[in-house]
Amino acid sequence: MTPSPFPPGSTIGILGGGQLARMLCMEAKRMGYRTLVWTGGLEAPATALCDEVIELPFDHHDAINHFAETADVATAEFENIPRATLDAVAAKVILRPSAHAIATCANREQEKTFLRNQQIPCAPFWIVSNAKELAQAMQELAGPGVLKTSAFGYDGKGQRKLSGNEDPTRIWEEFSSPRAILEGFIDFQAELSVMIARNPAGQIHSFDPVENQHRHHILDLTIAPAGAPEVVRKQACDIATRIVEAFDYIGLMGVEFFLDTEGNLLVNEMAPRPHNSGHHTIDACETSQFEQQLRAVCGLPLGSTRLMTPAVMLNLLGDMWPGVEESPDWSAILEDASAALHLYGKKRAIERRKMGHATFLGDNAKARAEVAKARLLAKGRNFPSL
Ligand code: AMP
Repeated sequence: MTPSPFPPGSTIGILGGGQLARMLCMEAKRMGYRTLVWTGGLEAPATALCDEVIELPFDHHDAINHFAETADVATAEFENIPRATLDAVAAKVILRPSAHAIATCANREQEKTFLRNQQIPCAPFWIVSNAKELAQAMQELAGPGVLKTSAFGYDGKGQRKLSGNEDPTRIWEEFSSPRAILEGFIDFQAELSVMIARNPAGQIHSFDPVENQHRHHILDLTIAPAGAPEVVRKQACDIATRIVEAFDYIGLMGVEFFLDTEGNLLVNEMAPRPHNSGHHTIDACETSQFEQQLRAVCGLPLGSTRLMTPAVMLNLLGDMWPGVEESPDWSAILEDASAALHLYGKKRAIERRKMGHATFLGDNAKARAEVAKARLLAKGRNFPSL
């Protein structure tokens, strides 16, 4: 039997207080929900928009109790939350997605093993925990690869590209991570992603696949819809569906893919929450990814994911700010009458920090986004590539 939904008026507990929580709070407020944001003590743009905040660290016993007692249902806006906290929360309040799904996506080793067990295509990989295992893996790969930390890696952090000719002992010493995976380097023609939601009744809706382009390993532009052939886009949605079904997943998930030069789709990683590449849905889709997360987590029927207009999302990184505390001239975006500016309220514009995004709707959206980006970067501060 499907459990009863949590209707408007209920309190949604959110683990994490970043921009994803902030945008979820906005949708929650619009739909008459209360929100309790637990920041873990980190910088938290969501606190300006939620009803209640807990600022204690994620392992604080009183905070766990208060969070679980106040929330009617709980979710997470990022995956790097201690497993013990996820389990303690889930023991007291319904946590969607499950602690298992969140923890699997937080650890590349577990994530890749899950994909392998489900026979879902991904880059070839080897789990390594010392120089000897790395040497063996490099020998078997026999070509270029990417070494990635098992935990706490995102936006290119904790990654190193290898040509395959390096000395494994030296690489392992320099990498200084207790565990890692070596992945084959994928010569891709495009990177795609799919946002998908599943609710407790088993209803599944995916948004149109999008294409993602990166700058300094951080998402730069999302193009919706992706230009890939229909058969590829359908296959991406089918793979995402298999993933959420395998987890018996409840909530919203982002699935990132490589489309290799031979036309094969390989899963790169999964995000058990809204994703940067789904931000265009706020302005361009009938239901935003944040409303869809809320609907899935609260057990409501899912909303339509129809893309009402082509759209391009431009990430606004800190290097577009002329100074750490000096804002850009927003006319680069505001002069475009079909562009929506979203700022996350972060005070200090550190170079790689995601400060906001802009969504360009309609014709020539990519060209218009590129023009705005060039104008912003021309006045901003460049930062060296990793
Ligand atoms: P990740 O943090 O794993 O999403 O990686 C960040 C970016 O690095 C990806 O979006 C790709 O552009 C690139 N990348 C990661 N892994 C690989 C790989 N195995 N082959 C080629 N490029 C990769």
